[in-house]
Amino acid sequence: MAQDQKVRVRFAPSPTGYLHIGGVRTLWFNWLYARRWGGKLILRIDDTDQQRSTPENEKMMMEDIHSLGIEYDEGPDRPGDYGPYRQSERFDLYAKYAKQLLDEDKAYYCFCSADLITQKREAAMKMGKMPIYDGTCAHQSKEEALKRISAGEKAGLRMRAPSKDYVLEDLVRGKITFQSGTIGDFLITRTPTDEEKEAQAGIGMPVYNFSCVIDDALMKLTHIIRGEDHLSNTARQLMIYEALKFDLPIFAHTAMVLGTDRLKLSKRNGDVSTKQYLDQGYFSETLLNFLSLLGWWPPQGITPASGHPEVMTPEEMIKVFGTEGMQKAPAVFDVQKMKWMNSFYMKMLPLEKVTSEARPFFEKDPNWKNIVSERGDLWFEKVIGLFREEVSLLSELPMAAQLLMGDTLTLDEDSLNFLKKDKGLEVVEALKMRLNHFEDLSDSSGFKELQKEIGTELGVKGKGLFMPIRIALTGQMKGPDLSDVLPLLGASTVQSRIQSVIHQVKGQS
Ligand code: GLU
Repeated sequence: MAQDQKVRVRFAPSPTGYLHIGGVRTLWFNWLYARRWGGKLILRIDDTDQQRSTPENEKMMMEDIHSLGIEYDEGPDRPGDYGPYRQSERFDLYAKYAKQLLDEDKAYYCFCSADLITQKREAAMKMGKMPIYDGTCAHQSKEEALKRISAGEKAGLRMRAPSKDYVLEDLVRGKITFQSGTIGDFLITRTPTDEEKEAQAGIGMPVYNFSCVIDDALMKLTHIIRGEDHLSNTARQLMIYEALKFDLPIFAHTAMVLGTDRLKLSKRNGDVSTKQYLDQGYFSETLLNFLSLLGWWPPQGITPASGHPEVMTPEEMIKVFGTEGMQKAPAVFDVQKMKWMNSFYMKMLPLEKVTSEARPFFEKDPNWKNIVSERGDLWFEKVIGLFREEVSLLSELPMAAQLLMGDTLTLDEDSLNFLKKDKGLEVVEALKMRLNHFEDLSDSSGFKELQKEIGTELGVKGKGLFMPIRIALTGQMKGPDLSDVLPLLGASTVQSRIQSVIHQVKGQS
């Protein structure tokens, strides 16, 4: 990479379904890297596999990226100088370079069917041999091959793997040598189906390793930051770079992400869909912060404004992000830890933001929908301000705030028994009387005074005093500070709740 060259990195998902959480980590690493070096992040859609890469899947994936709030500089919906940014719109380019390799005899037609190849691979493995292509079509002349094609046979193109070692200087993993003979001739285009045949005019359908190199080179990418699982692809890609005389980008292969069972993170050992986490009420801030620490570690001694060394804003990360902090050892995706981090963000993010993100969770709850609109924005913000202390996920808020719901209360057995013993009922009745004349429900010191007076009058204190009051106001034996709850309930709800409680204790309900 030339000294004056600006960093250009990319995220190149294949839109075959939802956005995988591991993909978000790759995207985020690339974003941080681009921002750290004042470079550009490109979003490229790798949709050469047109059976699996549907427009619906692409839409779903783009929505996930947008809901995480990650900005990229060029992509299908952000025009740039190196488009189009969908591989399905770049087939002419792949055809051009495929022809070039064919003309230079660096690639040849291969007529072997996928089934035959699989059989041969299996047989080779059984015999303890390297499962590489056996060269069946390697020596066939081009004329002969073209004759077969004009006679209606279908073929893909196979690259002749040079007999030499390839050495990669990886920014994370250091020097890696891919030894000669470990990778056989490999497909750069596959045999087209009947429908695809016409479109591809005898050179087959480009496969990932091939289209990837052409695009990475033509899009002038300087760094390829992607998961370590791509290393075996990189070996093949190095050969293609060389054959096409393209400049080599710098590679950084990041550590794998494992589930807590130490197996590769997949649907089997956890949720891997980004949307699912957002739907559960994780903040995108949490997801990105948490994922950034899977395989990267900030330099020691940094002091984020959050006060916690692991809770960092994107701006704080940008300042210190780099491949030097990336680790080789696999990282474990521990949802419990992410949940903890979300509870940290729940308390730390501005109340206004938490409130607006919490709103959809209340609005999709039929019990809450009307209450929220009737009571108004200010009330709702106070509710969130109070209950965000008690939960980890946004989706837990409507449940936690449920003690504000309802003008009457139905007591459970424990609460009822508590009020039936000692001076429980008397406390509640005294509370009703006094609150009748108590004007300002948000006057917490006045409310504390009032409780004290009841205590003195009836000669009760401690649990015997506070618990009946808590039960009479909320129907529960625990919860947030009552002086915070009271103003949110409102005077008439408070009165009717107490009345309903008295009725139950007296056995009148
Ligand atoms: N489309 C490829 C994938 O989703 C891109 C891999 C790469 O970064 O080269 O795995």
